[in-house]
Amino acid sequence: MKYRIKDITEFSDTTLSISWEDGHESLYLYKDLRSACPCARCTGHGEKPRFKKIIPLSTGGQQVKPDSIEYVGNYAVKFFWNDKHDTGIYTLDYLRENCTCEYCTVNS
Ligand SMILES: [Zn+2]
Ligand SMILES: [Zn+2]
Repeated sequence: MKYRIKDITEFSDTTLSISWEDGHESLYLYKDLRSACPCARCTGHGEKPRFKKIIPLSTGGQQVKPDSIEYVGNYAVKFFWNDKHDTGIYTLDYLRENCTCEYCTVNS
């Protein structure tokens, strides 16, 4: 475990903001996070999840958003999505490695 979260906030109706303890800030579209759900149901047979993977969303055109977000120990977070899906555990390393900011995109 390399990264720690300082704070998770709702940046906008469509976007989540994570501030990291090292001062970095990441923004994630909810729909990207939901599409990148790393749980076995979404990724199939234990293959390594890929963040850009697109899966069909069953929200009936509704904006996908978490109803709530829970910490899992100090190494991951869990999203309770409004499409009732809640089995994905997003490790902090996974989130940070998939930060979409310009710096991380260029340097990854
Ligand atoms: Zn899933
Ligand atoms: Zn970044």
